[in-house]
Amino acid sequence: MKDFSAGLLAWYDKNRRELPWRQDVTPYRVWVSEIMLQQTRIEAARGYFQRFMEAFPTVEALAAADGETVLKLWEGLGYYSRARNLHACARRVTEEYGGRFPSRAEELRQLPGIGEYTAGAIASIAFGQPEPAVDGNVLRVLARYTRCGKSVGETGVKARFREELRAIYPAGRCGDFTSALMELGETVCTPGTPACPACPLREDCLARRAGEETAYPVLPPKKPRRVERRQVLLLIRGDRVALRKRPEKGLLGGMWEYPNRLEGEPPPGGTCCGSAVHIFSHVEWHMTGYILRPGPEAPDCIWVTPEERRALAIPAAFRHYSRVLEEMGL
Ligand code: SF4
Repeated sequence: MKDFSAGLLAWYDKNRRELPWRQDVTPYRVWVSEIMLQQTRIEAARGYFQRFMEAFPTVEALAAADGETVLKLWEGLGYYSRARNLHACARRVTEEYGGRFPSRAEELRQLPGIGEYTAGAIASIAFGQPEPAVDGNVLRVLARYTRCGKSVGETGVKARFREELRAIYPAGRCGDFTSALMELGETVCTPGTPACPACPLREDCLARRAGEETAYPVLPPKKPRRVERRQVLLLIRGDRVALRKRPEKGLLGGMWEYPNRLEGEPPPGGTCCGSAVHIFSHVEWHMTGYILRPGPEAPDCIWVTPEERRALAIPAAFRHYSRVLEEMGL
């Protein structure tokens, strides 16, 4: 791969966005922002990041928090295993490393929730090391730049890009180089219509030269998502509503939910309160809700007041049903 670092850094110096985690760069702030940004758009992550930093200004503060509070602050961001790993990782860093993140990527990768990508991001952005961080955005830029004919899901493709990048990491500006590549993928070399005329890599970009920018990256075939039809039950007694805790492992692990089950006969005496669809990465829930008032016995549930419910983290999948309750004054 041709060395494009100088042009890319010059572009970054002019075009970098001011983002909350780019101010006051510390390993802790870089780590939290990278975990948040894994499945979340920058604009959506900003507010969460700021609230998170206010609640937990240090890794020790996060480690000392209780799990429920952490999940509550994560509510709406989805992929809740990230929040649980974040909490577990804060505890490890506090207990085993005295509150200081290790600086080497190999050591960072041993911590909960930190994979190859996040380890590279922290090592380069927070510690100035020549460690590439190849996420989907960076992969797209590189696949286009090199006109990579292999599927980017194929084994070895990412590792090869990482090796090639390592060779061109600019001494003294490793963190900026990582951020610049990500930024280019997010703002210029976008999936649908890349803004090639504004791109600092345009002269040597092989996909651009062939006029085939959008033919790359070659993506692995998508598996169709499974559809699950579920009934959501809003069980109400006086001003209390039944909530159930999901098992710790698996989808939405450890979160609170309205009792729900695979669709069957509508519950006797239930009043339909609308349908909602929620799309997870591998499954779609097509839900129909029913109000049961007064709600029947529900041994695996707790009964909460509206105030108590709002203090708990209920996943966005159930947002429609929380609204139904709110409209009922609950
Ligand atoms: S020239 Fe176009 S396709 Fe190539 S890296 Fe830049 S934006 Fe992407």
